[in-house]
Amino acid sequence: MRFGIFGGTFNPVHSGHLRVAEEVRQYLDLEKVIFVPSYLPPHKDLADNVHADKRLEIVKIAIKGNPYFDLSSFEVENKGNSYSIFTIEHFRKIYKATPYFILGQDAFNDILSWYDKDRLFSLTHFAVMSRPHAQRLPLNRIIGEHAAGYSQTQRGYIKECGNEIIYIEVTPLDISSSKIRDMCKKQESIRYLVPEEVEKYIKNERIYL
Ligand code: ATP
Repeated sequence: MRFGIFGGTFNPVHSGHLRVAEEVRQYLDLEKVIFVPSYLPPHKDLADNVHADKRLEIVKIAIKGNPYFDLSSFEVENKGNSYSIFTIEHFRKIYKATPYFILGQDAFNDILSWYDKDRLFSLTHFAVMSRPHAQRLPLNRIIGEHAAGYSQTQRGYIKECGNEIIYIEVTPLDISSSKIRDMCKKQESIRYLVPEEVEKYIKNERIYL
């Protein structure tokens, strides 16, 4: 089973997330991309305190119709801080395979601060997506001493155990959840930045006002 785990706060999920996930899926020939909204993100505040059930619902609405996209409530059900390492272990057990952990370059640049990072590097591949305003730095500047275990490949880096860091140039879409929340507060239209059904749900539930 070739599968990707796409973690995030998804507050809310937007068309940037959806499009880049689709591009990564195609590039890596994944059978599944599992969206895993966090309960409490360890690396940032949960803006507007939007309840996890609402963020889950928004992802559910957004991915409807894409047979390759799946939604998992694993982190939401576990409550507390959502550490990706536990999510990776969970899905490794289920699918008996090494996942591709999908994240943006901005998030990858911060990876040394992640919980239990040593185990992270041995339990998953990383699919690092380009993102406007995020710079691709030399690997040793991002992961320090961990870089020694990797050698360069055409598409990134590989470790002796076979785990890869793969850089994927995706369509640059300068869309972020924070921008969408701001626009909602200012009562500006978010049309086409999120799927139509998501726009309706956010409006009806008055989520970011
Ligand atoms: P916020 O603006 O609140 O910080 P966000 O738009 O970055 O949110 P997250 O839910 O934090 O959304 O993102 C989940 C993952 O998706 C992260 O790894 C992030 O880097 C990546 N990502 C989000 N938007 C894009 C985009 N437009 N292009 C590439 N990667 C993206």
